[in-house]
Amino acid sequence: MQTVGVRVARGPDPLVWAFVTIGEVVEAMRLVDHHAHGATRNDLTRPELESRLTESQWSPPAGTSGFDSPLGLAVRQRCAPLLDLAEHADPDAYVARRGELGAGEVNRRLLRAAGLAHVMVDTGYAADALLDPAGMADAAGARADEVVRLEQVAEQLAVEGVSATGFVSAYAERLADRTTAAIAVKSVLAYRHGLDIDGDRPGERDVADAAGRWLRATETTGVARVDDPVLLRHLLWAGIDRGLPVQLHTGFGDPDLDLHRSDPSLLTPFLRAARASHVPVMLLHCYPYHRNAAYLAHAFPDVYVDVGLAVGHTGAGSTAAVAELLELAPFGKVLFSSDGFGPAELHFLGSRLWRTALTKLLGRRVDDGDWSITYAERVARMIGADNARRVYGLEPDDVAGPGRQGEG
Ligand SMILES: [Zn+2]
Repeated sequence: MQTVGVRVARGPDPLVWAFVTIGEVVEAMRLVDHHAHGATRNDLTRPELESRLTESQWSPPAGTSGFDSPLGLAVRQRCAPLLDLAEHADPDAYVARRGELGAGEVNRRLLRAAGLAHVMVDTGYAADALLDPAGMADAAGARADEVVRLEQVAEQLAVEGVSATGFVSAYAERLADRTTAAIAVKSVLAYRHGLDIDGDRPGERDVADAAGRWLRATETTGVARVDDPVLLRHLLWAGIDRGLPVQLHTGFGDPDLDLHRSDPSLLTPFLRAARASHVPVMLLHCYPYHRNAAYLAHAFPDVYVDVGLAVGHTGAGSTAAVAELLELAPFGKVLFSSDGFGPAELHFLGSRLWRTALTKLLGRRVDDGDWSITYAERVARMIGADNARRVYGLEPDDVAGPGRQGEG
């Protein structure tokens, strides 16, 4: 059965009345993607594309390929027509066509088809190979803003030779500088330690001691990677002090992280301690702990959730993940994200599959008589754009146009 709610609306001509389905509302919305990375600047070979369709760092079993997954299949089905190929195009034909069009045109077609009003770009990882926020704004025909990684700012200071005793003040100053034009900060605590940290702000003495240990290790190894839990906690609190929304990676990702330590419910002590600040805490991805995340968004006034990364990776099955998130999370606490990273297929599919999931879920509520179509529309608009506009302080009429980055 087609699960579409229908309402009657006045058309542009007041004498003509038209049927509007929830699907049409969802398709017409320009989305705010509150967490993505840049799209790949360069053309990709088949092995390169396949390696970016998985969070694994290793090859698939012999006789199978990176396309043998829910995401791989979604690329062949949903992206192929945007490159002038038939649905379910053969992977070799797909990669060949990608090469003919060139990375610039592929990015433009896929990112424009994502239908974004605004995209927030995490520039903290592999930035050289990816479009920067201005490049993303251009390719997507949307506004773009930068999200700054807390750990990267600290690591830059270590490279520049900050002292252990000067670290706390130098970090606060540098973070303020680096985020003058940023829309949010982000923590990758889940990758560096795990979300199982004490909640309270660490004391200055403890931070200086931890910074000393870290800087000595950095000198010995030549690698400035923050993984000390006291330092990581300090960076998180410095992010809270900065006052911008704090995004946190939670849930699955590449095998650098221990999955069970990426459960966002481990952040409960921190969320309790940070509540008085009223700084929004944005739990990214969350899968397979999105139900736990939904509870946190339900219980804590400044906690928000998305299920971004999972929507792409679960492909045609993504409706289930979105449905589980929406079981408990208040509608004003759920945001859309693609977590697109690298191939613009990921940015596009994040949007495409999310729209499909939402149409099915909201349409079902209306068809079952549980919700009015007017309310279903309200929920779609909240999750698709309005919640992000409110939390990140975007302009109400922030629709497609030149990116802020492009305006200097
Ligand atoms: Zn991400």
